[in-house]
Amino acid sequence: MDALSYLFDWKTFLLLGAIFVPLEHLFGMHPEQKHLRRGWMLDLIYATFNGAIIKIGSMLLIYAGIVAGRLMIPEFVRAAVGSQPYWIQVIEVLVIADIGFYLIHRAFHTFPALWKFHAVHHSIEELDWLAANRVHPIDQILTKAGSLIPCFALGFSEAALVTYAVIYQWHAILLHSNVTVRIGPLRWLLASPDFHHWHHSDHREAYNKNYAGQLSFLDVLFGTAHMPDGQPTKYGCSDNVPETYGKQLLYPFRQILLRRRRRTSKADILSTGS
Ligand SMILES: [Zn+2]
Repeated sequence: MDALSYLFDWKTFLLLGAIFVPLEHLFGMHPEQKHLRRGWMLDLIYATFNGAIIKIGSMLLIYAGIVAGRLMIPEFVRAAVGSQPYWIQVIEVLVIADIGFYLIHRAFHTFPALWKFHAVHHSIEELDWLAANRVHPIDQILTKAGSLIPCFALGFSEAALVTYAVIYQWHAILLHSNVTVRIGPLRWLLASPDFHHWHHSDHREAYNKNYAGQLSFLDVLFGTAHMPDGQPTKYGCSDNVPETYGKQLLYPFRQILLRRRRRTSKADILSTGS
């Protein structure tokens, strides 16, 4: 394997482009949006460099999941889980992983320090098939930890976990893509592009809604679903996220340090004033 292939799965990337560029052209949710929209180059950089960081992080997570399973889950439970029929396991992994995804994603929106990492992903102002790549590595690794460690710990078979990983990757690209997909009432069960576009929208009524990655019924269950008729007209967030890869990687750390300094100087003023 050459260095570029290790860093970046360009064959899958080209295949995704060959499928999604024509789909966006023919069935665009926002047909007026340009293919080379604002920020596409930045998202291409994310697609190239984030892969290696996430691969290393994911390997550590798999190891953590297996160790946690051996320590906390009785062997007969792991054996029973792993010996179920393949498709049952795939469905169970989808549900367990997405509950983990929902909870971690909601935490990223709830806690100010975590939000600074997630704001990088929400800084995208025009969504398309490349947009899913713009995720801070810490965000990506913690989210994968929440969804994958329980699945590895419970002892699901390798085939079921690999199937889930492939479904997740393609579904994540579809959710961010500029493609209209109409699935009728099923949209309250499975996440569709309009469901996730509302999550990225800069409309006040849609803030902190639609956290699920794949199963929109989780948001229905937890009271955070928002899918009115029509599509969002504005995307992004109010954070002033910088526009280059390096600066975006540093952004959350700088913001957390700044906040800490402000708190310290405020405490100093209060103590000298008293
Ligand atoms: Zn989010």
